[in-house]
Amino acid sequence: MSGEEKVDVLVIGGGMAGLSCAYLLAKAGKEVVVVERGESCGGKTLTGGRIYTYSLEKLLGKELFSQAPLERPIVKEQIAMTHSQGALTIDYTDYDFKEDVPQSYSVLQAVFNPWLAEQAEEAGAVIAGGILVENLIEKDGRIIGVKMGDEEMLADLVVAADGINSFIAQKAGLRGDLIGAEIAVGVKELIELPEGIINARFGLSKGEGAARLFLGVTEGIGGGGFLYTNRNSISLGLAIAPEKLGEQKKPLPDIMQDFKMHPSIYPLIEGGETVEYGAHLVSEAGYNGVPKKLYREGLLVVGDAGGLCINMGTSIRGMDLAIASAIAAANAYLEAQNATEVGNIYTKKLSETILPTMKIYRKYPVMMEIPRLFKEYPLMANDIMHFLFTVDGKIPKKMLKSIQKVVKQDVGLKNLLSDGWKGLRAL
Ligand SMILES: Cc1cc2nc3c(=O)[nH]c(=O)nc-3n(C[C@H](O)[C@H](O)[C@H](O)COP(=O)(O)OP(=O)(O)OC[C@H]3O[C@@H](n4cnc5c(N)ncnc54)[C@H](O)[C@@H]3O)c2cc1C
Repeated sequence: MSGEEKVDVLVIGGGMAGLSCAYLLAKAGKEVVVVERGESCGGKTLTGGRIYTYSLEKLLGKELFSQAPLERPIVKEQIAMTHSQGALTIDYTDYDFKEDVPQSYSVLQAVFNPWLAEQAEEAGAVIAGGILVENLIEKDGRIIGVKMGDEEMLADLVVAADGINSFIAQKAGLRGDLIGAEIAVGVKELIELPEGIINARFGLSKGEGAARLFLGVTEGIGGGGFLYTNRNSISLGLAIAPEKLGEQKKPLPDIMQDFKMHPSIYPLIEGGETVEYGAHLVSEAGYNGVPKKLYREGLLVVGDAGGLCINMGTSIRGMDLAIASAIAAANAYLEAQNATEVGNIYTKKLSETILPTMKIYRKYPVMMEIPRLFKEYPLMANDIMHFLFTVDGKIPKKMLKSIQKVVKQDVGLKNLLSDGWKGLRAL
């Protein structure tokens, strides 16, 4: 790559957002280069493991979508409220979720991203791995290229798809530093198990998947656990607020180890082999964390780099938004009559697609600020169940009185009312 070289589009980052954008633009005949700091795409990324498919199907079209290396369509949605001796698990099965195009699949980025990179290459994009973009090149207020060590590359359009810690969006003056309250630290293990064992442990038929969210596994710190069944493995992890984690004596790997050893979780992973372990930041701010502007002349910001991620409480949605924003960016570039229009068209497309959805969920992060959600409420739910299912030959206490006692002792009536009100207002 030399300072003289100029391409139509240079994409920084070979995650889902960058590769999706590169695929569409290369397919449309544009000269596209993706620069990825990892040796290969998927090597430096980490996700929990469920992708909502609507934007991926739009990106690939039905035929190519059917060939994508996704894991299992999710038909079981489970929420486990956990305490030291057990868990109350809500288990909702819905076969509508796998009809026609299943609404969501478990996915492994280490498998999926290299495949998407291959599709982009086949469409004509060049993917350059092992290169870190260090800066942007500006001329007369317009972004005209990037610097990579001693090398420079010029482009008609630069797409910043460099993930949550987007140094590029910061360099462009579009975003400030990440702040602790707006992120979570995620850790994840990939645990291999035979397909039949996974099916039996989760009550699944062949080709079906389960997603489980855990509350009460984070030592009372804001956050939760997640589990996704893949074909021959389980993705198990935690996402925790980093600020409180700092005040906590137990390090994150120990919290993860306790999570794995919990009596309701260990039987699900017993005999499995951990083949991957990773940590990564997750964007938690939702709509309020999206910068006012996601473009400069010559630059568009997509995916996590633009804060386009929602924590819905029951699941994190970053991958579908990464792809949807990449589609919007690629189409904005293709439709614009001149360079000055691209940013406005991109913004308009986001305002018509993913931003209204993000806006609906914009108060959800408030719910995450209810501290009792992560310890006291799971304990209360389990104590009530303990009371309901205990038969020990003694004369039982009146049900209503006993439940009131549990509520008072675990949460407190005043807290229950104020948390309930806070929770309702966040919906
Ligand atoms: C623990 C955890 C659980 C999650 N669970 C889910 C889930 O279940 N479902 C869901 O939809 N989302 C989930 N998410 C969020 C989701 O993973 C992200 O929103 C999504 O992967 C973002 O894609 P992206 O392409 O924008 O960024 P990334 O996947 O982060 O890709 C950015 C790429 O840019 C590269 N890069 C960075 N800087 C440079 C540079 N300067 N030069 C060159 N290359 C660079 C990186 O190496 C990386 O490959 C989760 C995230 C975490 C951490």
